[in-house]
Amino acid sequence: MTPKHIEEQYDAVIVGAGAAGLSAALGFHRSDAARALRDAGVEPKVLVISKLQPLRSHTGSAEGGIAASLADMEPDDWRWHYYDTVKGGDWLVDQDAARLLAEDAPMTVINLERSGVAFSRTDDGRIAQRRFGGHTADFGAQPVKRAAYSADRIGHQILHTLWQQCVHYGVDFADEWYVTDLVLDETLTRAAGVIAFDTHAGVTHAIAARNTILATGGAGRLFHTTSNSHDLTGDGMALALDAGLQLEDIEFVQFHPTGLAHTGILLSEASRGEGGVLRNADGEAFMASYAPGHADLAARDVVSRAIRSETDAGRGVADPRDPDGAKDCVWLDMTGIDPEHMRRALPQVVETIEDYAGLDPTKDLVPVKPTAHYTMGGIPVTTDGEVYVWDGADRNVVEGLYAAGECSCVSVHGANRLGGNSLLDACLFGTRAGQAVAERVGQDPVAAGTPADPALGEALDAAKTARDADIDALLAGAAKDADGDNAYRVMADLSETMERGVAVLCDAGSIAQAQVVVDGPLAERARRLRPHSDARTFNQELTAIWEARHLVRLAEAVLAATDARHESRGSLKRTDFPERDDATCLNHSMTAAGAAPLRQPVHIVDIEPGARSY
Ligand SMILES: Cc1cc2nc3c(=O)[nH]c(=O)nc-3n(C[C@H](O)[C@H](O)[C@H](O)COP(=O)(O)OP(=O)(O)OC[C@H]3O[C@@H](n4cnc5c(N)ncnc54)[C@H](O)[C@@H]3O)c2cc1C
Repeated sequence: MTPKHIEEQYDAVIVGAGAAGLSAALGFHRSDAARALRDAGVEPKVLVISKLQPLRSHTGSAEGGIAASLADMEPDDWRWHYYDTVKGGDWLVDQDAARLLAEDAPMTVINLERSGVAFSRTDDGRIAQRRFGGHTADFGAQPVKRAAYSADRIGHQILHTLWQQCVHYGVDFADEWYVTDLVLDETLTRAAGVIAFDTHAGVTHAIAARNTILATGGAGRLFHTTSNSHDLTGDGMALALDAGLQLEDIEFVQFHPTGLAHTGILLSEASRGEGGVLRNADGEAFMASYAPGHADLAARDVVSRAIRSETDAGRGVADPRDPDGAKDCVWLDMTGIDPEHMRRALPQVVETIEDYAGLDPTKDLVPVKPTAHYTMGGIPVTTDGEVYVWDGADRNVVEGLYAAGECSCVSVHGANRLGGNSLLDACLFGTRAGQAVAERVGQDPVAAGTPADPALGEALDAAKTARDADIDALLAGAAKDADGDNAYRVMADLSETMERGVAVLCDAGSIAQAQVVVDGPLAERARRLRPHSDARTFNQELTAIWEARHLVRLAEAVLAATDARHESRGSLKRTDFPERDDATCLNHSMTAAGAAPLRQPVHIVDIEPGARSY
């Protein structure tokens, strides 16, 4: 029986059109397996679904660089990059994955260059590289220039290049479609595809896919102060939770030290890489005392906590725009950088400071505070991007389900990500996921493009019926009064609750306070939300309601995992458990909705956990 709602069958559906999703599409199309299929006269069918027009994906706002031991400026070695990544992640890194990341990084950057990324250059034409926190030569001996960059707009370059290549390969895009459901079989062993809502036409689609790749990006919108764009509502992670899957290490959220005060907008680490210095209210360059040797370019969690210590000790400054407000900022002093060089190397940073703070960084001190930036945890995947369920002893791969980029956790970032490593992660492991899917399709060429298993089709059919009922109920209940609750208010309240509860520092009390609010009133409000218009088409409140529900779902998991980790490691600082505890806590948390996290051992290959001195 062919289920009645299925419009299309795909060999692969990719949810997300940032660096990870587009790399997966290209990894698929450029693979030997896809070529062999085409040679055999079979045209593989791949669809990329994105809730945004692809070029609006957050990847486009990445500023500072992508890490690779190209050794274009200084001696470098992938083994040093590997070591830095493991150490930077506070040893919660799976070393087999991190090794792959570091070893394949130069090839990944060179492939980007060959695809058309316009990197900044040295005078003799090589790819220029700059310093980034935590990247060192000779196993921590001294800092090294490892981040390849394109002024301070590397993400824009990468996103546009990957998208152009996808257009070249004829990849199908469904732009401004919102994926509402990930559909698995009952035993969570096989993926059937996704349900997606076309926001233009106002209709749902059940998309049957022999392979689904989730590449939906991060979840910075969990917090009030964030560098992330408004779309980063953790959809893919919440879809996984809703489908019954787990998230790995989801308690680890990176706060970037230099968010522009009261906007959270990122001022790239490159602003310190190029010579910017953090100062407290007394004008003291305080990082030297917190991280001797690395100072302002210490790992991000270290710098964020140092800022918090300074402001807690009364040495913070207020945003000059709100002089009577909280003194929860410090100064970023870029006045020591040659103004001409600053404009050439950091145009985006300069523009952001001028436009959003009305300050001139060549002369003025700039108020900054830690801003939620990156989710180290996510949907657990193998190094080929396969999503798995941890049962307490083994990884059980979900057939036909993959994930890549910030929504996933291949565990290369552990408890804290180094700058430049996430574009690398998204491009490299996105490509690998695409290649793995192509191989899977190639192994069974007869089935390429043909209908999936009827049982999976029925699961999809049921999910579509349920989603249509949800939409009908939402629209039928459309509340025309402007005073009623709305999704944006729920998201704002949630982000403030999370910020108070677990941003930068937390303890059992602050976590519990957040849990009371999230699990209780916020979850209830998210359930009751109704749009204010009953229009089916271009009704942005509909998607905002799903986003709010996703954020609440994800916040519950973040709080449960944070509560269960009784130590401080990387980005997670519990003031009631201030030390790292390798004896009992050197393991990954695996959190499913409504359940206590299971524990998975960290893959240690050849780097024993040691001290983390910066
Ligand atoms: C301001 C900023 C600066 C950064 N600078 C750097 C840097 O210099 N170096 C570095 O390495 N990293 C940097 N990062 C991190 C890095 O940019 C991201 O981790 C990376 O780009 C994530 O890529 P992605 O493909 O996983 O997700 P994204 O680029 O966020 O793409 C997510 C995609 O998923 C789609 N999507 C989401 N939910 C749904 C849904 N429900 N239905 C359909 N589609 C959906 C969206 O439309 C989008 O296309 C920075 C991040 C920020 C925020």
